[in-house]
Amino acid sequence: MLEKLRTASASSSAADAPFDEKTVAAACASLRKPKSAVGPDGISGRFLKHAGPTVIACITLLLNYSWQHGVVPRQWREANIIPLFKESQTDRADPNNYRPISLTSVLCKLCERIILARLWKLAGDRISRRQFGFRRGHSTLDGLLFLDHHVRLMRMNAVKTNNWLSVCFLDISKAFDRAWHAGLLQKLADIGVTGNAWRWCRAFLSDRRLRTTQDGLNSDWFSFNAGVPQGSVLSPFLFLVFINDLQDAVNHREPSDRIQTGRAIASLYADDLALIPLSFGKTGDAEVQEALEQLGAWADKWRVTFNVSKSKVLCFTSRRNVPSVRVFLNGDQLQQVLTFDYLGLRWQENGKWDEHFEKVALSATRVAGFITSLLHATGPPASVIRQLCHALIRTKILYGMPVWQPSSDVQWQRLDSILAEPMRRCLGLPKSTHIKSLLVEMNTLWTKRQFDVLAVATCSRALSQPRQHQSHTVVQSQLDWRWPFEQRQPIPHVARRAATELKAPSALDRKQPSMPPQKQLVNNALALQRVEWRKSGHGRSLYHLMPIGPRTPSYLFKDPRPAAIVRARLRFDRSHLAESRRRRGVQLDSIICARCNLADNLGHFLNDCQRNARARKEAFREAELAGLPTAQPHFGLWTLGYVESMPNARANIALAISAKFLLASRAIRKL
Ligand SMILES: [Zn+2]
Repeated sequence: MLEKLRTASASSSAADAPFDEKTVAAACASLRKPKSAVGPDGISGRFLKHAGPTVIACITLLLNYSWQHGVVPRQWREANIIPLFKESQTDRADPNNYRPISLTSVLCKLCERIILARLWKLAGDRISRRQFGFRRGHSTLDGLLFLDHHVRLMRMNAVKTNNWLSVCFLDISKAFDRAWHAGLLQKLADIGVTGNAWRWCRAFLSDRRLRTTQDGLNSDWFSFNAGVPQGSVLSPFLFLVFINDLQDAVNHREPSDRIQTGRAIASLYADDLALIPLSFGKTGDAEVQEALEQLGAWADKWRVTFNVSKSKVLCFTSRRNVPSVRVFLNGDQLQQVLTFDYLGLRWQENGKWDEHFEKVALSATRVAGFITSLLHATGPPASVIRQLCHALIRTKILYGMPVWQPSSDVQWQRLDSILAEPMRRCLGLPKSTHIKSLLVEMNTLWTKRQFDVLAVATCSRALSQPRQHQSHTVVQSQLDWRWPFEQRQPIPHVARRAATELKAPSALDRKQPSMPPQKQLVNNALALQRVEWRKSGHGRSLYHLMPIGPRTPSYLFKDPRPAAIVRARLRFDRSHLAESRRRRGVQLDSIICARCNLADNLGHFLNDCQRNARARKEAFREAELAGLPTAQPHFGLWTLGYVESMPNARANIALAISAKFLLASRAIRKL
């Protein structure tokens, strides 16, 4: 090993070249959080962000000196730790209940970022393709799709053989804090980080010190010699290198014969590890056991500890009775579970997602409650609530949906209701309001339609990744499948149908996928949704009031909340007008307006009713001054918010006049 390290330190290449000022200037300009706290050296991000040519030149000089001599200034290897109490805990005396936030030198982070780019260039190809964390072009979704792919393969085979697939989820204890430095340096050399880069990493890791800081008081310094430094830019990369050969260890390969003896795959998201056998049933269990033994040996060699009590095995099966699986890690049996939370989804042994659905529904409902709590008598405008629903509720619902899906129309509808709830409350509409119509009014996609867009985007993105990208492989292969079940189509199948419907067939082109802009895809989906909605026969009162094209009606932006409520109730036929109430099934003795002896309906309210005659007269007077049409049906249309054919300024006046009319009428009677 010593020999290896010596050669690693000596060899040099183009990767050793010094950095130029242009690179440094670009890194300074792209500093993202210039206001964040400073490290022990007291240099702020704001200072670096606005650095002039002289400062840039100085930093370049410093960086290159450090790079070429393999030395890292003392202050760059120091960190101030702020202990942050975890709110979920109660015992303030237990140190485990604090999350350490580590503040390191901002200048050092800048240099790390520059060096990190070089390291990825140097050795990025050698990082396992089944490591989905901390790398460009990858996300948890890739890890989810990968596991889902294998579970689906098992299900397809299960039709014939009634099989199962045992997947182990392993927990590495304090993975980041315990990475062994000497081992890490050897692995860096193994994957091709040599010369200046290697020496710099060695200096960066050695003799690190930290101290605790609170309320302006500092503790003594203390040193540590294991673990990747918390809060540093380079750490994620270093960690990936440290556990990179885990994949090889599982898929044990003799260097001489290049034959794989193990048959399991380790899928990683940072330190989240899933061990997937390549066969099913008993053979698969044996493969997993073999892989676990190799993993145990690997862990011993590299001083890694697995937390067996947090590691589980989940047996995916199509059988009614779940087979019991006995697998051991370092002599301890792994507990078998029926569900497991992996990368944010709750996986069930029977391949269903009902438990995950309930979890999502619950947390989305909570967010909806929070948004609703922002409502007060006069605001905020409906358009703001709409934005919040999109940003906070929808993202929660859609997370991982290419892998999990609602299993029935009832579940889809429930998601729509949760999404629409704050908007419904904002517009003061009763519970009987047709939710899908409300979403159409809000120019918001129904969850199922949004899922179509997501499917196309996901598959198109995967296909445009390089061939070695796991999701690329998964999507390519699933496109060729004949999926034997009605339920839970593989995402490429959903995408294929959706791409045709959304007029974007080239998005799934296998050689050159070209994804139309997201916005265009959404607009096509909105248009399609409107056609479907009209066919359904719901929300008829809205048909002639809809803006042409995918737009949100202007009143939702302009109206103060009380006016928007009245307008929305009239638009949705959910007002207190007697005729409207009877249509909704309310038992009424008579629908005759007591004052005028005419049917109390929308036309009567807008045009004839004596009760709001004064408000109407005032509105007419103002409209004529502004040059707005007051004859029928024009007055009715713009009063209900249809101002789409008017130029902007005129539309605003029309909305203002009609809002006044509606509020004055509401002061006289319930609307
Ligand atoms: Zn009347």
